[in-house]
Order: sequence, then structure tokens, then C-alpha cells
Amino acid sequence: MNFTQKYAKEMAEYDKMEKDFIDDDLIWKQLNEASTPSKEDVRRVLKKAEQCVRLEPEETAILIQNQDPETIEEMYQLAYQLKHEVYADRLVFFAPLYCSDECVNRCRYCGFRCDNGVMKRKTLSLEEVAEETKVMIEEGQKRTILVYGESPNTQVDYMVDTVKTVYNTKTEHGEIRRANINCAPLRADEFAKLKDIGIGTVQVFQETYHHDTYRYMHPKETMKGHYRWRLYSMDRAMEGGVDDMGLGVLFGLYDWRFEVMGLLYHTIHLEEKFNGVGPHTISFPRVTFANATPLSRELKYKVSDEDFKKLVAIIRLSVPYTGMICTAREPKEVRDQVIPLGVSQIDAGTRIGVGAYAKSKKANQLNDSEQFTIHDDNSLDDVVKTVCETGEIPSFCTACYRAGRTGEEFMKVAKSKFVHNYCIPNAMFTLKEYILDYATEDTAKIANSVIEKHLAKLKDKPYYEQVANGLKRIEAGERDVKF
Ligand code: SAM
Ligand code: SF4
Repeated sequence: MNFTQKYAKEMAEYDKMEKDFIDDDLIWKQLNEASTPSKEDVRRVLKKAEQCVRLEPEETAILIQNQDPETIEEMYQLAYQLKHEVYADRLVFFAPLYCSDECVNRCRYCGFRCDNGVMKRKTLSLEEVAEETKVMIEEGQKRTILVYGESPNTQVDYMVDTVKTVYNTKTEHGEIRRANINCAPLRADEFAKLKDIGIGTVQVFQETYHHDTYRYMHPKETMKGHYRWRLYSMDRAMEGGVDDMGLGVLFGLYDWRFEVMGLLYHTIHLEEKFNGVGPHTISFPRVTFANATPLSRELKYKVSDEDFKKLVAIIRLSVPYTGMICTAREPKEVRDQVIPLGVSQIDAGTRIGVGAYAKSKKANQLNDSEQFTIHDDNSLDDVVKTVCETGEIPSFCTACYRAGRTGEEFMKVAKSKFVHNYCIPNAMFTLKEYILDYATEDTAKIANSVIEKHLAKLKDKPYYEQVANGLKRIEAGERDVKF
């Protein structure tokens, strides 16, 4: 069978559906009806958001359309408050591992599209995956996301082998403890194979929820050209047992206001269908320049920094229990501004070229195998230091996932005080490991002071001694101490 026809039968089933859960006209109607909200309208929505509950589309539309500087500031303040209430003072770190730039698709914004002649195509061998992993571990990474183009060489069995290789690779400093995946849509039985080998979150970004724009960006005869096959991939992931799902929009392809509504409708769909379990994370990358890819420079719907900040706060307010990922596509200055408004995960020390960890020390050095441009090319150590300077704890923790707290279990945890009681000590433990095994002197100094500050805050807690003792055990050489 021709590879591009692989899912033709399954795709045809979706064609029979009368409609999907994204109603473009309804979204625009809701946005138009909210077009000039009063201060009272906005404050009414903020009052509800304060309760840490998911907003309804009409309410999110009011926040999106708000142009009033005073209440926009109030939105920022509440987003900040919710972020710290739900996720506490910590920021989880990861780095991507690009396994292949081979791809049969022709997404107009992407450097990997098959008609881009300047890309050198390569799929890593398992030995090369192990090499990349070793470099990542030696730089201090504990969590990764494996990324693949869609091609005959990167089907689910290759994904399984690469994930296994990552988990089996060890150095004197330990191992990668959580591997997530960003891949093309799969069938439920294929997702189940990934679940079986202990995958964390599976991300499939919709890119754009707007049907016509989706059609334009992803030519019809390509595999990615099927909107609904992609839209329902998280349903199939759930059916295959992967209950940590990552949604995403590639901002800049269509009007950001519509896309935020799309993310919310997707969340509502999943929550309704899967007993309250919505997405584990939402990613909101903006298009950055991709080599020999004109569309990535000429965006009709380019999102300004100001609107970007607004959309981050609105996502935080609309879906308070969903993790939010801000990648190194954004420059440091932008990340510094939006992280306090709701971001719970960032990547650092990122290289996105295929084989780039072994070949280069920094991002953007392998033009013929990089999908797009990285704007925050600071090292992991630099970013750890910057985050410590804000008083937040950089966390490399993977305890929840390894204790099976995913999907519904994780949602219960997120909605309790669990994050404060468990995640903060675990963040401190993993930061301590980082300090001892990898940090430069300056970073170690400030990171130790962050740990001390947070330990002091736990003085009255019944588990204070346990945390203090855990830190001592790590200092004495123990690793992977969990609370
Ligand atoms: N090939 C798989 C697919 O498309 O489903 C895996 C995803 S791709 C390797 C990772 C993500 O990169 C895409 O989902 C897209 O959102 C993002 N991306 C593609 N081109 C980009 C660009 N020029 N700037 C920023 N992000 C981009
Ligand atoms: Fe291929 Fe994904 Fe790039 Fe599209 S976004 S061309 S599917 S790698």
C-alpha cells in the first residue's frame, strides 16, 4: 500500500460525519457578539475565573475582545495569581529531541515539507538517538519530547524503538526520566503501543482550527490535508490509553482570537467525552522563520508581542488546570514577560536539528535540518539561572507521571493542594540534583538560595523534616529522591 494512503479507510469514516466540534460561524458569532465588552462584562468573567473553573466560550470571547487597558491589567494580575495558585512557584524544564526531518507532507509554514529542496533528509539510527540522549543527559536534561516528521521511516514502530532507546540510555549522571512525543496523528492501536512503552504526553497540534485556513496550509492530497483525522487524534490517543494529551495551535496562520476559541472548544470536547479529562498541556508557538519557506516570513495573521501576552493570559484564565508550554521559539525577552502569566513548562538548551546535540553546542547551527528558527538560544544553565532570579524553582521532576498520576488522576491532583505539598519539594530535589551535577558556580549560588527560601516557607509543615532530609540525601550522593 502507498504510505500516503495508509489511513484512507479511517479518514473516510470521518468524512461521513455531518459536522465536527469546531463551528467556524458560531465562533465568529460569539466573538462578534462580545466585540465591545464593558468593564463590568470583563469583571464578571474575571470573578468566575477567580474560582479556578474552566470558562465557557462566550466568557472567553469577552476576554479576547477586551481592549480596555485597565481591565486588561486586571486580567494579567488574575492570570498571575491563578498560575501560582495552581502550579505554585515552579517551572518545569524539558528539551526536544528531533529524530527525523523526513516528511511526506507539504505544510506551507514548515522547513521539513517534502518540497523544500534545501533540507538534508535524515532519520537517526538508534545508536544516534542514544548519542543525542547522552549529550542531553550530560547537559542536565531529565525530560524530553521526541519529534518526528511523517514518513515511512518514522512510523509507530520506529517511535517505539526511539523512545525505548532514550529510556535505556544512561550516563554517570543518570537518565532521561520522561519521554513525550510530538508526532503525526495515529490510530488508537498505534497510540496504545506508545502507551505500553511508557510514553508521557502525546502532542498533536491542530496548527489552525479554522477549516479554510487548514485546507490552504495543508494541501488536500497530502496526509496532513485531512482536518478531522487530525482534530480527533486526541480522542484516539485516549482510546489507546494515552491519557496525557497535548493540544497546540501554530499562531500566525489565522486570527489568534479564533484560534484561542478553537483551543477552548477542543478542551470542552475532550472533557465532555472523557469524564472531565481535558488536555494535559496546551502549546501556543508562533511561526518563526523556516529555511527556504517564504510563508513563514509573510504572515497575514502575524501575532504581535502584545497580543501574544494577552492570549497567554486568556488561555490561563480559560483553562486553569491545563499546563501551558512556551517554547524557545520565543525570544528570552518575550518568555520573561509571558512566563509569569501562566506558563508551567519551558524548553531550554534546545537544539532542533536532527543530530544537533552531538553536532553543535547551540541552536540554529544546522540550517539544513532545522524545522524553524529558535529565538531563545541560551544554554540550559543560563535559563535555570534566569528563572532562579525570578524566585521560581526550575523543576526537572517526573514523579507524577512515574507514579501513574496521569489523565483523570492528574486532574484530581491538580485541583487539590497537592501541587504545593508535593511538587514543590520534588522541584527542590531535582533542582538540587542539577546544582550538584551540572550547574556553573553562579547558577549554583542563586539556585541554592532559591531552595533555601522555599525550604524556609515549609517550616511549619508536618513534612518539613522529610524535605530537609531528602535534600541532605541528595547532597550525600543519592539521586532520584522523590517525595
Ligand atoms: N510532523 C508532525 C506533525 O506535523 O504532526 C510532528 C510535528 S512538527 C515536527 C512539530 C510542530 O512544529 C508542528 O506541529 C508545528 O506546529 C510546528 N512548526 C512547523 N513549522 C513551524 C514554524 N515555521 N515555526 C514554528 N513552529 C513550526
Ligand atoms: Fe511534516 Fe509536520 Fe512539517 Fe508538516 S509540520 S511538513 S507534517 S514535519
